[in-house]
Amino acid sequence: MAALTGSVGQGGRNAPADVTQVQTLLAAKGGDPGAADGQCGERTIAAIRKFQAGFMALPDGLISPGGGTWRKLTDANTATLVQWSGDSAQWPEDKKLRSMHPQLSQKVQAVLVALRDAGFQPKVYYGWRSVEVQQRLFLAGNSKVRFSFHNVQKPDGTPLSHAADIIDARYAWSPQAESSGFWQALGAAAKKEGLIWGGDWVSFRDWAHVQLVDNGELARLKRESGL
Ligand SMILES: [Zn+2]
Repeated sequence: MAALTGSVGQGGRNAPADVTQVQTLLAAKGGDPGAADGQCGERTIAAIRKFQAGFMALPDGLISPGGGTWRKLTDANTATLVQWSGDSAQWPEDKKLRSMHPQLSQKVQAVLVALRDAGFQPKVYYGWRSVEVQQRLFLAGNSKVRFSFHNVQKPDGTPLSHAADIIDARYAWSPQAESSGFWQALGAAAKKEGLIWGGDWVSFRDWAHVQLVDNGELARLKRESGL
């Protein structure tokens, strides 16, 4: 792998040989930069941003020689990163479960079974989500934090969510979720599995939210995520 001679992407120097190399690497990681023609157009920049969205809060579409994006792009261990990009709320349930810490995944599956047995239609809304998605939720007022247990990942960017949001497919966050008893049933089933339930938080009731470890662990997990 040759080092870049200059930056590639939005506002970059974009020497054709560098661009070709980036396009080839993006394609090898499942991205869609267009033909490896050495021309840095919109499609290539969009592919850079999409790749960055897996590990950057604010993708800038620019790859600097030796910088963080370049290191991820040339790291053999990040070969599957692109499969984890995009809006994780749209993923199929098994992929959401795979985006969780294995212990959390196991407990969430037990919670889903318990809720189904009680006649509910439980559904995982979020397992892992990228820091980019988190940033959007934060700015929209839908989350209180810029980094959450949902954002925990391995240093190479592989999801390792320590939280899940579970709703009833019929009610989502509507008043019926409470009047039907779904939130209470979720809380009871989660606590039976040893999970922490956001509905217990007096300052901000996060009804759908369950997490694997105590809030005090967040700073450590952020460091370990390399974020
Ligand atoms: Zn949550």
